Amino acid sequence: MNLTDKIAHLIDEKSALYKQVSDKIWEFAEIRFEEMNSANLLCETLTNEGFHVERGVANLETGFIGTFGSGKPVIAMLGEFDALAGLSQHAGSSEYEPITPSGNGHGCGHNLLGVGALAGAIAVKDYLQENNLSGTVKYFGCPAEESGYGKTFLARDGYFKDVDIALSWHPGTVNIVLHARANAVINATFKFKGRSSHAAASPHLGRSALDAVELMNVGVNYLREHIVDEARIHYAITNTGGIAPNVVQAEAEVTYLIRAPKPNQVKDLYNRVLNCAKGAAMMTETTVEEQIIGSCHNLIPNKTLEEVMYQHMQDLSKVKLTEEDIHFAQTIYDTLSEEEKHVAALQVGKEVAQQLVKKPIIDFIVPLPEVPFFMGGSTDVADVSWNVPTAQCSTATWAFGTPFHTWQVVAQGKSAYAHQATLLAGKAIACTAISALENPTLIEKAKAELKQRLDGETYEALIPKDLVPPKLTEAIPVKVYI
Ligand SMILES: [Zn+2]
Repeated sequence: MNLTDKIAHLIDEKSALYKQVSDKIWEFAEIRFEEMNSANLLCETLTNEGFHVERGVANLETGFIGTFGSGKPVIAMLGEFDALAGLSQHAGSSEYEPITPSGNGHGCGHNLLGVGALAGAIAVKDYLQENNLSGTVKYFGCPAEESGYGKTFLARDGYFKDVDIALSWHPGTVNIVLHARANAVINATFKFKGRSSHAAASPHLGRSALDAVELMNVGVNYLREHIVDEARIHYAITNTGGIAPNVVQAEAEVTYLIRAPKPNQVKDLYNRVLNCAKGAAMMTETTVEEQIIGSCHNLIPNKTLEEVMYQHMQDLSKVKLTEEDIHFAQTIYDTLSEEEKHVAALQVGKEVAQQLVKKPIIDFIVPLPEVPFFMGGSTDVADVSWNVPTAQCSTATWAFGTPFHTWQVVAQGKSAYAHQATLLAGKAIACTAISALENPTLIEKAKAELKQRLDGETYEALIPKDLVPPKLTEAIPVKVYI
């Protein structure tokens, strides 16, 4: 039996377990740093499969590492399992139908992501055992990808130091090996403090923190003209200081996401945004306190590993679709706006798009792009990719055109095709892991490529050295950033 058949067999044998775990995590739908039930279930599954599990890594209560095997090489599989706030939705329905209004839902498919990576890790373990091979596989349980950047804490605290390569995947609408780069980001809050007063009777005694927030934002909006092209700056006012216009607001807060292609550019931009905050504080005679609460580096692709993964993806048998699958995907596709359909068509080309209108689930592999695709957003996989060669794929877990972070994603999160595509991803990353385990020169080549792409730069997390992730007992504001 060749490698892809062998791995496919190992994963298919346990498909009922993977479906069960993924559906449970879909139901738990826990958000950033609160994913205790999801983490418990993944850890229990790893323990049952013979992994040694370490909990609470990097001060992350829902972070964990499951390890199997010994010696080199060390292969990391990155798993995520956080949901999104406000995306509650019934599974299998093609109408917007929340289970709990304003409840959570797996709108980015991380119930599938965590389990696909789990299937990959367990298949590598089974393969090592059956063939009596040395080598280590580590499943990294990475919480709060959506807005808490769990992997950045793991990378900052050195958890990838002994790892040789890292592999992961993300649910999506196409089967593709991701040859992509993403912006680095700093997430920071700016808290202004002023002096309260009656806004009509004694306005001269007040100093408005809300005015300061507004002036800071105006300053930043002028700054935009003088920043590098691919940079992005966005903000949300997270505390207006109250709802009474006749009170001078004594406190106000604004949260910023500052993105640029390189970490140094983000740091520089952050200082310029900070100057706008200081200027606003000076103008309004208020004070400002800034805090960096999260960050990611830019994503570094690794063509060496991606080519191997692409080969395996082509060799693996594709998802088998039933009439029922196609019908359901069609009803989901029909809920998309014309603009959403148009954006999706651009991604695959006009001809393919025409076929997909009739059978809206992609069952072929998109060719590996020559030039890295640029994502304006950010991912904490990036912080891993600065430390070790990292490769990722995506598989068609959702109907063609389904936008991320929508109720349509949640609706498809337990579908038969989502489960099959999850296993396809697990197979692709497990096969890539075995190729690396059996071929040390591949790892050397991947490391050499990373070194060349870093061009002398070294990793230092953009979050402060002493920043501690929020604890489960702390109130966590409901925000979605990535
Ligand atoms: Zn995601």
